This record gives sequence, structure tokens and C-alpha cells, in this order.
Amino acid sequence: IVSREVQPDNTVVHVRGLAIGGAAVQVIAGPCAVETAPQMQQAARLVREGGARLLRAGAFKPRTSPYSFQGLGVVGLDYLQEAARQQGLPVVSELMDIRLLDTFLEYDIDVIEIGARNMQNTDLLKEVGRINKPVILKRGLSATVSEWLMAAEYIAIGGNHNIIFCERGVRSFDPAARNTLDVTAIPLLKRETHLPVIVDPSHAGGKAWLVPALSCAALAAGADGLMLEVHPDPAQAWCDGDQALDGAAFGSLMAQLRPLAQVL
Ligand code: PEP
Ligand code: MN
Repeated sequence: IVSREVQPDNTVVHVRGLAIGGAAVQVIAGPCAVETAPQMQQAARLVREGGARLLRAGAFKPRTSPYSFQGLGVVGLDYLQEAARQQGLPVVSELMDIRLLDTFLEYDIDVIEIGARNMQNTDLLKEVGRINKPVILKRGLSATVSEWLMAAEYIAIGGNHNIIFCERGVRSFDPAARNTLDVTAIPLLKRETHLPVIVDPSHAGGKAWLVPALSCAALAAGADGLMLEVHPDPAQAWCDGDQALDGAAFGSLMAQLRPLAQVL
């Protein structure tokens, strides 16, 4: 279903009137996690003022250590939606547990993110395949392109074809960066599938200063959008502060990207 052999024309995924996979590059931005209502409101304002059209934030976080902050849970979805509505932005949030799908629908989460750690959680994939909300399918930590395409097929087979691939860096031999952005995967996917492909340079690089270069590389390679971590005060962030852009850095990155592509 996801193969270009089946459908030669690009699929455009619509999110509340926004097109992902069309002529314009879409930018999704926001903090790694929902922390407090004021943090979320400040983040949403920075995201809108900087020119991104979608707000991201996790209320359920798949942390490496069970002793780390696990996300606020359902109240986080509430803070996220409240902040997003104030700014008129659709929201993206990660779903980790099938049992919470109805809650995500109840809170009207516009785009469901399947995180890297769940790329091959086939039961979760089948379940989000049965609804009609757009799904961002992040690449597994060490997943091959063909495994990733098959994971998307698990979603598509249920009838939901609103799937967006997100390259977020892969495990490599080199600990110099958090992950290694696989730029090659962008044109490979664009050739293999008609579905949109976006890039998350924040989790790929793991450092805020790497994000501009990786973002430019992603757009040059043909990505349909970016997902960026932006926080009002990265030094105080409850998770992933090292890779978060503050408002000023986000604003200057958006200015840097505008000449490279039609960034809305
Ligand atoms: C995220 O986007 O918040 C996240 C946890 O990313 P990944 O699943 O790519 O690690
Ligand atoms: Mn993060």
C-alpha cells in the first residue's frame, strides 16, 4: 500500500487544513515533554511566533531509565491542548500504549506520533491503522529502511493511509553525536514510497548547535518537513534540554531555512 509502485503520485497528508507532503515544508516544533501549563504556553507562543504551524510535546515519555521523568500523563494532554488552542496550532503527541488511544481521540490530538522505540510494536501499529488521524512513524533506533516501510504497511493495512515517516537518526559506531542522521534514507524513502518524509534533527544530533546544519541537510535532501525541539528555557528542561532550541535560536533557524525551501 505504501509503495510508489502502487501509487505513483505523492500523498499529501492533511492536518486541520495544513498539507504535509505538498509544495511547502512544514515545521513541527515544541518541547520534548509537557512540563507545566506555563511552560507549555510559553513554548506554544515561541513556536507560533517563530513560524512553525504545528506544536509537538510528549505527555507520555519513553525514557531510558524508569527513574527519569515519565511525562505528566493525561493532564499533560490537557496542558498541551490548552496552549495549542491559545495559539491556534494543531498538536502532535506520542502514543505508547494502545489503552490510551481513546484518550488521545477524546483530547483531539491531531497527529499521533509513534516513537522510535515502538516502530515495530505491531499491535500498536495495527490499532492506529484503524483510525483516521494522521500518524508520524519515527524510525526505530536501528531499523532498516525496509523494516520501516513494513511498519508503515502495518498501519496502512487497517485503512489509515495518513502516514508520515520521520527520520530521527540511527545508532552508529560513533558516540560523538546522540545518533547519526541518515540523510540517505530521505531520498531512498522518497523513491520507495508516496508518503511524506520528515526529519527530526534534534534527536538525531542531540545538541542544539547541531540542529541548524542537520535541518539544512534534511531540506536539501528533499524532506517534506522538520520536527524540532524548542523550549522556552532549555537549561531548565525536564528532558532533552541539550538538544532544545530556545526562542532566539529557533527564530534564527527559521530565517535560515526560508531561502532554502518554501517554509510556511
Ligand atoms: C520524541 O519525539 O519525543 C521522541 C521520544 O523521539 P524518538 O522516539 O525519536 O526517540
Ligand atoms: Mn525528546
